[in-house]
Amino acid sequence: STKSHRPDVFVIGGGIGGLSAALALTIQGLRVRLYEQAPEFGEVGAGLQLAPNCTRILHDYGLLDEAVQLGVLPEHMIMKDALGATELTRVDLKDMERRYGFPYLVIHRSDLHGVLLRGCERAGVELVTGARCVAYENIEGGARVTFADGNSDEAEVVLAADGLHSIARTLLVDDEPVNSAYVAYRGAVPFEQVRANEVHEKDVVLYVGPHCHFVQYPLRGGRMFNQVAVFQSPKALAGDDDWGTPDELDHAFEGTCQEIQKGLPLMWRDRWWRMFDREPLMKWVTGRIALLGDAAHPPLQYMAQGAVMAIEDGWVLAQHAGAQGAKRSEGGSGIDWEVALDAYEAVRPEHCRRVVLTARSWGALWHHVGVQREQRNAVMRSRDTYDYAFMDWVYGPTALKPDQEPEMFTAIPLDSVEV
Ligand code: FAD
Repeated sequence: STKSHRPDVFVIGGGIGGLSAALALTIQGLRVRLYEQAPEFGEVGAGLQLAPNCTRILHDYGLLDEAVQLGVLPEHMIMKDALGATELTRVDLKDMERRYGFPYLVIHRSDLHGVLLRGCERAGVELVTGARCVAYENIEGGARVTFADGNSDEAEVVLAADGLHSIARTLLVDDEPVNSAYVAYRGAVPFEQVRANEVHEKDVVLYVGPHCHFVQYPLRGGRMFNQVAVFQSPKALAGDDDWGTPDELDHAFEGTCQEIQKGLPLMWRDRWWRMFDREPLMKWVTGRIALLGDAAHPPLQYMAQGAVMAIEDGWVLAQHAGAQGAKRSEGGSGIDWEVALDAYEAVRPEHCRRVVLTARSWGALWHHVGVQREQRNAVMRSRDTYDYAFMDWVYGPTALKPDQEPEMFTAIPLDSVEV
């Protein structure tokens, strides 16, 4: 890669958040160099759900058609009880597309990552792999990053998209990831392997159960099928370091319906994802260094908004930078970064705070046992399929301007529900 022009912006981390931010800023006329620690770019081969507040942005980048070609536009999102397999409620995703103007898409993570990577290459993002950033520092008129090999580099702004264990975050807060004691198993398999299971071929199905849930949806035009099994680990609750192991998977879903029993043998058993989030953080910017994506707001994945929020972050920052217009000179980009970063920090932390906290409350709702489970089921059964009250603030364009957000969904008061 050439270093003939000094870049305006560094992005640290080439996950979905970093790549999409690099693309967004490049589209606005900025020179961006992205540093990724891994020797090659890549993502896990499991599925990802992208709600309309994300497909709206992919459309803006000219990438939605390609993403839709590679993914699936499911017809419904259906919630069922994991014990009895009875339907509790559903969302009509075609109607939802009419409401929000953009589709609900499910896509293989590596396919989305590839779409963003090719977008970056076409736009001219300078992509550097094998570079592990070990230190960040504000300097006069910019920021400096230092790498594990001892090299350092300077730009006007550094965006840290370095994930859950972000080093840059330590500049802003001394916190630790919060252990939920839940773990996720994943498995994406050729559709042939589930054909006999009589699965929903065109829907996202969520089975909610006691301290567990199970998700299924198609991928790659229906040629693949994605499953996610999530459960509370007794070993984690007991303080055991070796938690979330396959023996716990086998126990966690005992007593759940046949649909889940048929799906479980197809889960990958050689790796699992322990689920952590962090307490919301309202300050993401220090000088010319800013957090983005999981580095700023890692959620539990129950709202399927982690990657989506990361993509929104980059879009919002790039909109604020781009709104100033190009004033490039010998001295640099001409962007007033204090203004752009202030505007970014004025909208994104509040929205992401709401999502992180709401994801926790959705998890609690899904995993109820006993009477609360029955109360939850009664509330869900009485929900109108076409009631969007609980998602307008997330899926609508207002998600980009929280000052205009309608009421957020908070925990449903189950105590008053008679069963
Ligand atoms: P990451 O993906 O963690 O990327 C960080 C990148 O930075 C990596 O490439 C890493 O190698 C690099 N890096 C780290 N440190 C350094 C360093 N020091 N120097 C250089 N590079 C560095 N979200 C959704 O929107 N929809 C879903 O359906 C969904 N489902 C999920 C299901 C599960 C089971 C889980 C666990 C998560 C799910 N999420 C979902 C959340 C989503 O995966 C994350 O929020 C998202 O991937 C975060 O992207 P990111 O780019 O911010 O961070």
